[in-house]
Amino acid sequence: MPSTFTKTFDTPAYKGTVTIPLGLYINGEFVDPVEGGTIDVVNPATGKVVTSIAAGTKADIDIAAKAAKKAYKTSWGLKVPGAQRGKLMSKLAVLMEEHIAEFAALDALANGKAYNTAYGRDNKGAIAVMEYYAGWADKINGKTIETNENKLAYTRHEPIGVVGQIIPWNVPMFSLSLKIAPALATGNTIVLKPSELTPLSALLFCTLIEEAGFPPGVINIVNGYGPTAGQAISEHPLIEKVAFTGSTLTGRKIMEAAAKSNLKPVTLELGGKSPNIIFDDADLEQAVKWAIHGIYFNHGQNCSAGSRIFVQESIYEKFLDQFTENARAIKVGDPFSPDTYQGPQVSKTQFERIMGYITSGKNDGATVHLGGKQIGQEGYFIEPTIFTECQPDMKIVREEIFGPVACVMKFSTEDEVVEQANDTSYGLAASVFTKDIDRAIRVAHALEAGTAWINCANQTEISMPFGGFKQSGIGRELSEYALENYTNVKAVHVNIGIRL
Ligand code: NAP
Ligand code: MG
Repeated sequence: MPSTFTKTFDTPAYKGTVTIPLGLYINGEFVDPVEGGTIDVVNPATGKVVTSIAAGTKADIDIAAKAAKKAYKTSWGLKVPGAQRGKLMSKLAVLMEEHIAEFAALDALANGKAYNTAYGRDNKGAIAVMEYYAGWADKINGKTIETNENKLAYTRHEPIGVVGQIIPWNVPMFSLSLKIAPALATGNTIVLKPSELTPLSALLFCTLIEEAGFPPGVINIVNGYGPTAGQAISEHPLIEKVAFTGSTLTGRKIMEAAAKSNLKPVTLELGGKSPNIIFDDADLEQAVKWAIHGIYFNHGQNCSAGSRIFVQESIYEKFLDQFTENARAIKVGDPFSPDTYQGPQVSKTQFERIMGYITSGKNDGATVHLGGKQIGQEGYFIEPTIFTECQPDMKIVREEIFGPVACVMKFSTEDEVVEQANDTSYGLAASVFTKDIDRAIRVAHALEAGTAWINCANQTEISMPFGGFKQSGIGRELSEYALENYTNVKAVHVNIGIRL
């Protein structure tokens, strides 16, 4: 395996040459894996292998965890004041900004998302998240608690120690920053595994860590496969917390491994089957545009995708016509073309899963109102798809498809639609469209979801928490709330007068 990968992009959206190391980033160095495994990285626009990178296994996770533990005890954690941690994080954000075009090109190449989305949303977002938590690093405060005059009582929010983080492929750099930044701000050291499908941008990120001034071992990034490297993170005894984003199935495995090893606390950001409810008094044009963004953004590969669209019967036909017209106008194509909105699905496996769901929808009696087919012969492109005549028990209505597939359904009353919207094992997000402010707030409060959007969809604010009710997850990311995932609260009792 070569030790670096160089790619020259000569595309309408980006021209430039990017070089990255291909090894594992452990203890401040790029190293070869102990067992010498590799992962082929595929361009989903062509289905062709781009390069092969090093794949770590249990032995590499063990080395990384030990390096992280040492760094925690000697050069990070409580040894480094918050202001100093924040300074290094700010420096890292500046370096990320300097290389933003390269990050976007690598993510567009391995993920298939539009370069402009990778640049303007994922990577801009990743930088903003790093800056936001850099600001928190010297504001991690406990409380003094009044008990009685013979005691000084206070709490400290101490770092946990070594934390494990496992991320997916749909927003690679945003996920990475979302995990790393709050953990660093609170003083933890990190062993992170990127997705096997999108490991390239994480490797570029590794080249900036030392330059930003982080001591070796504070951030370790080990590429590898889920059942080997991911599993090893979940069960490692030195890793005292694990944070994961991905499928519910994998989330269960991680929780089980955490429970069976050292009972490490688990934060999970899992899937969704988010409802989008459109009442007959909504601004129809706006509701249509938001519904399009809600389901088709990022090719439907979005945990909070508004995949179940409920439309009040009196406007159903009108909505469906406009929604269909907008879906048909979506520009699907080359990720490096500046006007592309939708690229290929991330992998052959995901492509086949989505096509399998489309077949199951047809077999169950739903109607393909738009799309439903592969585009072209090369790569993993799928037509923006609309199903109508969907029934609540169909697989396409119950399960997360994670692709450009919307189910549009009719409802008559508010009570009925709230019940249908909540009839799911998931609870990540929900949208409601209406001009009636009482109804908007009433419905937003009645929906069982970690995020409720009123007259919008798929909105994230760094200063707002994000996470799931029900089987969509445990814990909250983003905002001040995420800091709780990475601190242990210690209660200190100081006796200033109690005499025995
Ligand atoms: P996944 O298998 O849950 O992968 C997410 C991450 O977990 C990857 O880094 C993966 O490694 C790792 N992993 C897999 N098995 C593991 C294990 N036993 N122990 C520890 N880590 C493990 O998700 P996926 O296969 O990429 O996608 C499948 C479905 O997951 C999608 O269709 C979608 O429904 C859901 N998903 C949800 C989100 C979200 O944002 N909530 C994001 C992505 C996917 P590998 O890369 O090697 O598999
Ligand atoms: Mg997987």
